[in-house]
Amino acid sequence: MILISSLVLKSSFVRSLGNCKTFSSFAMVEPKLIVFDLDYTLWPFWVDTHVDPPFHKTSDGKVYDAHQQRVKYYKEVPDILNHLHKSGFQLAIASRTSAIAEANELTKLFNWDQYFQYRQIFPGSKITHFKKLHSLSGVPYEEMLFYDDEHRNILDVSSLGVTCMLVPDGISQKAFQEGLELFKNRKAKTKQNNN
Ligand SMILES: [Mg+2]
Repeated sequence: MILISSLVLKSSFVRSLGNCKTFSSFAMVEPKLIVFDLDYTLWPFWVDTHVDPPFHKTSDGKVYDAHQQRVKYYKEVPDILNHLHKSGFQLAIASRTSAIAEANELTKLFNWDQYFQYRQIFPGSKITHFKKLHSLSGVPYEEMLFYDDEHRNILDVSSLGVTCMLVPDGISQKAFQEGLELFKNRKAKTKQNNN
Protein backbone atom coordinates (compact mmCIF):
# COMPACT_ATOMS: atom_id res chain seq x y z
CA MET A 1 0.00 0.00 0.00
CA ILE A 2 2.85 2.35 0.88
CA LEU A 3 4.65 1.64 -2.36
CA ILE A 4 1.62 2.14 -4.52
CA SER A 5 0.60 5.27 -2.63
CA SER A 6 3.98 6.80 -3.24
CA LEU A 7 3.67 5.86 -6.90
CA VAL A 8 0.28 7.53 -7.16
CA LEU A 9 1.54 10.65 -5.42
CA LYS A 10 4.60 10.72 -7.63
CA SER A 11 2.42 10.14 -10.63
CA SER A 12 0.08 13.05 -9.87
CA PHE A 13 3.11 15.16 -9.12
CA VAL A 14 4.73 14.33 -12.44
CA ARG A 15 1.44 14.86 -14.22
CA SER A 16 0.99 18.32 -12.72
CA LEU A 17 4.59 19.13 -13.61
CA GLY A 18 3.86 17.90 -17.12
CA ASN A 19 1.51 20.83 -17.58
CA CYS A 20 4.43 23.17 -17.15
CA LYS A 21 6.72 23.46 -20.20
CA THR A 22 9.87 23.82 -18.12
CA PHE A 23 9.37 20.39 -16.56
CA SER A 24 7.74 18.63 -19.48
CA SER A 25 10.64 16.15 -19.78
CA PHE A 26 9.75 14.83 -16.31
CA ALA A 27 6.50 13.43 -17.67
CA MET A 28 8.44 11.24 -20.10
CA VAL A 29 9.63 8.92 -17.33
CA GLU A 30 6.18 7.40 -17.00
CA PRO A 31 5.18 4.49 -19.25
CA LYS A 32 2.35 5.35 -21.62
CA LEU A 33 1.08 1.76 -21.70
CA ILE A 34 1.52 -0.86 -18.97
CA VAL A 35 0.96 -4.44 -20.15
CA PHE A 36 0.43 -7.55 -18.03
CA ASP A 37 0.58 -11.25 -18.84
CA LEU A 38 -2.18 -13.33 -17.15
CA ASP A 39 -1.01 -16.85 -16.10
CA TYR A 40 1.43 -16.70 -13.17
CA THR A 41 1.59 -12.89 -13.52
CA LEU A 42 -1.88 -11.71 -12.43
CA TRP A 43 -3.11 -15.10 -11.21
CA PRO A 44 -1.25 -18.18 -9.88
CA PHE A 45 -2.30 -20.86 -12.39
CA TRP A 46 -2.54 -21.78 -16.05
CA VAL A 47 -6.08 -21.00 -17.10
CA ASP A 48 -6.01 -23.70 -19.81
CA THR A 49 -5.07 -26.60 -17.50
CA HIS A 50 -5.51 -25.78 -13.79
CA VAL A 51 -9.13 -24.56 -13.67
CA ASP A 52 -12.28 -25.75 -15.42
CA PRO A 53 -15.28 -23.74 -16.61
CA PRO A 54 -18.01 -22.87 -15.99
CA PHE A 55 -16.90 -20.38 -13.37
CA HIS A 56 -19.25 -18.70 -10.93
CA LYS A 57 -19.08 -15.96 -8.36
CA THR A 58 -20.73 -16.29 -4.96
CA SER A 59 -22.41 -13.42 -3.08
CA ASP A 60 -19.19 -12.78 -1.13
CA GLY A 61 -17.36 -12.05 -4.41
CA LYS A 62 -15.28 -15.25 -4.48
CA VAL A 63 -14.91 -17.10 -7.80
CA TYR A 64 -15.09 -20.88 -8.12
CA ASP A 65 -14.61 -23.29 -11.03
CA ALA A 66 -16.73 -26.30 -12.09
CA HIS A 67 -15.22 -28.45 -9.30
CA GLN A 68 -15.95 -25.83 -6.60
CA GLN A 69 -12.25 -25.05 -6.52
CA ARG A 70 -11.60 -21.42 -5.54
CA VAL A 71 -10.05 -19.41 -8.37
CA LYS A 72 -7.66 -16.86 -6.90
CA TYR A 73 -5.51 -14.02 -8.17
CA TYR A 74 -2.29 -12.65 -6.66
CA LYS A 75 -3.68 -10.74 -3.73
CA GLU A 76 -2.25 -7.29 -4.45
CA VAL A 77 -3.44 -7.23 -8.07
CA PRO A 78 -6.81 -5.43 -7.58
CA ASP A 79 -5.17 -2.60 -5.60
CA ILE A 80 -2.42 -2.19 -8.19
CA LEU A 81 -4.84 -2.13 -11.15
CA ASN A 82 -7.28 0.17 -9.38
CA HIS A 83 -4.62 2.71 -8.43
CA LEU A 84 -3.05 2.69 -11.88
CA HIS A 85 -6.43 3.16 -13.52
CA LYS A 86 -7.36 6.02 -11.18
CA SER A 87 -4.01 7.67 -11.91
CA GLY A 88 -4.81 7.66 -15.62
CA PHE A 89 -2.44 4.98 -16.88
CA GLN A 90 -3.45 2.99 -19.95
CA LEU A 91 -3.39 -0.74 -19.18
CA ALA A 92 -3.40 -3.84 -21.38
CA ILE A 93 -3.33 -7.64 -21.25
CA ALA A 94 -1.02 -9.79 -23.41
CA SER A 95 -1.57 -13.51 -22.90
CA ARG A 96 -0.60 -16.55 -25.01
CA THR A 97 -3.22 -18.83 -23.49
CA SER A 98 -5.37 -21.02 -25.73
CA ALA A 99 -8.21 -20.78 -23.16
CA ILE A 100 -9.38 -17.42 -24.53
CA ALA A 101 -13.02 -17.58 -23.41
CA GLU A 102 -12.03 -18.76 -19.93
CA ALA A 103 -9.43 -16.00 -19.50
CA ASN A 104 -11.98 -13.38 -20.61
CA GLU A 105 -14.59 -14.82 -18.25
CA LEU A 106 -12.22 -14.66 -15.28
CA THR A 107 -11.12 -11.05 -15.86
CA LYS A 108 -14.84 -10.21 -16.06
CA LEU A 109 -15.72 -12.08 -12.83
CA PHE A 110 -12.77 -10.45 -11.03
CA ASN A 111 -14.16 -7.02 -12.11
CA TRP A 112 -10.95 -6.17 -13.93
CA ASP A 113 -12.43 -5.38 -17.36
CA GLN A 114 -12.92 -1.74 -16.32
CA TYR A 115 -9.14 -1.35 -16.05
CA PHE A 116 -7.93 -2.62 -19.44
CA GLN A 117 -8.18 -0.51 -22.59
CA TYR A 118 -6.58 -3.25 -24.70
CA ARG A 119 -6.51 -7.03 -24.48
CA GLN A 120 -4.63 -9.43 -26.72
CA ILE A 121 -5.34 -13.03 -25.71
CA PHE A 122 -4.37 -15.77 -28.17
CA PRO A 123 -1.58 -18.36 -28.62
CA GLY A 124 1.65 -17.58 -30.49
CA SER A 125 4.65 -15.32 -30.02
CA LYS A 126 4.10 -12.27 -27.84
CA ILE A 127 5.75 -10.21 -30.54
CA THR A 128 2.41 -10.47 -32.40
CA HIS A 129 0.49 -9.36 -29.30
CA PHE A 130 2.70 -6.29 -28.97
CA LYS A 131 2.59 -5.39 -32.65
CA LYS A 132 -1.20 -5.31 -32.29
CA LEU A 133 -1.04 -3.28 -29.06
CA HIS A 134 1.28 -0.82 -30.78
CA SER A 135 -0.99 -0.52 -33.79
CA LEU A 136 -4.18 -0.14 -31.70
CA SER A 137 -2.82 2.31 -29.13
CA GLY A 138 -0.28 4.24 -31.21
CA VAL A 139 2.08 4.02 -28.23
CA PRO A 140 5.76 3.54 -29.24
CA TYR A 141 7.38 0.32 -27.91
CA GLU A 142 9.89 2.40 -25.96
CA GLU A 143 7.01 3.92 -23.96
CA MET A 144 5.61 0.52 -22.90
CA LEU A 145 6.29 -1.44 -19.72
CA PHE A 146 5.54 -5.17 -19.66
CA TYR A 147 5.34 -7.70 -16.81
CA ASP A 148 5.59 -11.46 -17.46
CA ASP A 149 6.69 -14.55 -15.50
CA GLU A 150 8.36 -16.31 -18.46
CA HIS A 151 11.84 -15.52 -19.63
CA ARG A 152 11.15 -16.43 -23.29
CA ASN A 153 8.38 -13.80 -23.47
CA ILE A 154 10.66 -11.22 -21.88
CA LEU A 155 13.31 -11.98 -24.55
CA ASP A 156 10.81 -11.78 -27.43
CA VAL A 157 9.13 -8.55 -26.33
CA SER A 158 12.43 -6.87 -25.32
CA SER A 159 13.58 -7.22 -28.93
CA LEU A 160 10.90 -4.69 -29.92
CA GLY A 161 12.27 -2.08 -27.49
CA VAL A 162 9.67 -2.59 -24.73
CA THR A 163 10.92 -2.41 -21.13
CA CYS A 164 10.21 -5.88 -19.70
CA MET A 165 10.13 -6.91 -16.05
CA LEU A 166 10.41 -10.61 -15.22
CA VAL A 167 8.10 -11.48 -12.31
CA PRO A 168 8.76 -15.18 -11.54
CA ASP A 169 6.49 -15.02 -8.46
CA GLY A 170 3.76 -12.94 -10.07
CA ILE A 171 2.85 -9.31 -9.56
CA SER A 172 3.09 -7.67 -6.16
CA GLN A 173 3.42 -4.02 -5.28
CA LYS A 174 7.14 -4.55 -4.78
CA ALA A 175 7.56 -6.27 -8.18
CA PHE A 176 5.45 -3.59 -9.84
CA GLN A 177 7.57 -0.83 -8.36
CA GLU A 178 10.76 -2.59 -9.51
CA GLY A 179 9.42 -2.60 -13.06
CA LEU A 180 8.67 1.09 -12.88
CA GLU A 181 12.20 1.80 -11.64
CA LEU A 182 13.60 -0.32 -14.50
CA PHE A 183 11.57 1.74 -16.97
CA LYS A 184 12.76 5.04 -15.49
CA ASN A 185 16.41 3.95 -15.37
CA ARG A 186 16.22 2.80 -18.98
CA LYS A 187 14.72 6.10 -20.10
CA ALA A 188 17.38 8.01 -18.18
CA LYS A 189 20.15 5.98 -19.88
CA THR A 190 18.63 6.54 -23.33
CA LYS A 191 18.47 10.26 -22.64
CA GLN A 192 22.09 10.26 -21.45
CA ASN A 193 23.24 8.41 -24.61
CA ASN A 194 21.38 10.89 -26.81
CA ASN A 195 23.09 13.88 -25.18
MG1 LIG B 1 2.58 -16.33 -17.72
